[in-house]
Amino acid sequence: MPFSDLGIPPALAHAMVLQGYVLPTPVQAQTVPVALDGKDVLACAQTGSGKTAAYAMVLLAQLTSRTPHKPRQATALVVVPTRELATQVGDTLRTLAQHAGQAARVTVLFGGVSINPQLMGLRGGTDIVVATPGRLLDVVDHRALTLGGVQTLVLDEADRLLDLGFAQELDRIRSLLPARHQSLLYSATFPAAVRAMAQASLHSPVEVNV
Ligand code: AMP
Repeated sequence: MPFSDLGIPPALAHAMVLQGYVLPTPVQAQTVPVALDGKDVLACAQTGSGKTAAYAMVLLAQLTSRTPHKPRQATALVVVPTRELATQVGDTLRTLAQHAGQAARVTVLFGGVSINPQLMGLRGGTDIVVATPGRLLDVVDHRALTLGGVQTLVLDEADRLLDLGFAQELDRIRSLLPARHQSLLYSATFPAAVRAMAQASLHSPVEVNV
């Protein structure tokens, strides 16, 4: 299946090819079309499976089809367990958007560094926020960002998020989102805690196992 069959805009399909990718990986082929159909997704995907580009394609495709939103209101939120992953995901989104000629504003937030530059960085508005849970809530508590416009939530490495003790933060983050939002959950493993969270927060998800 070529990238153009995933249901993404042609410029985005071309951007994947420009990056040297020949065909979608299995997790891309199985999650992108259903996610673009608006369904919740529960995907078992390891690092190296191409999961980051999978949800990056979804978020950027959704961005092109959505109506303009209020400033300082992101429409998509990616929650990740670590600073390293946040940086990596931010880079993937920016590079893909650039190759697609898409003006997506991507903001990366993580703890362990001064919050002020991150607060300043949000002043010009943002489309997609990639964040670790604690710092995301700090930024919200500083009133630099509201999550009321988020239409798509991605939880990446959900098993690690729970292992690191972020369950309460995730609950609070979800409580700040609109009641109706789409969730895409990616996890390498599915222990009981991840299953329980998926059951509590996803609506009739399409399950993908690659
Ligand atoms: P991830 O699962 O997000 O950790 O991705 C692992 C690696 O897969 C990254 O280095 C990407 O560059 C690469 N990748 C993503 N999509 C594709 C694709 N369609 N074909 C080949 N490699 C890919």
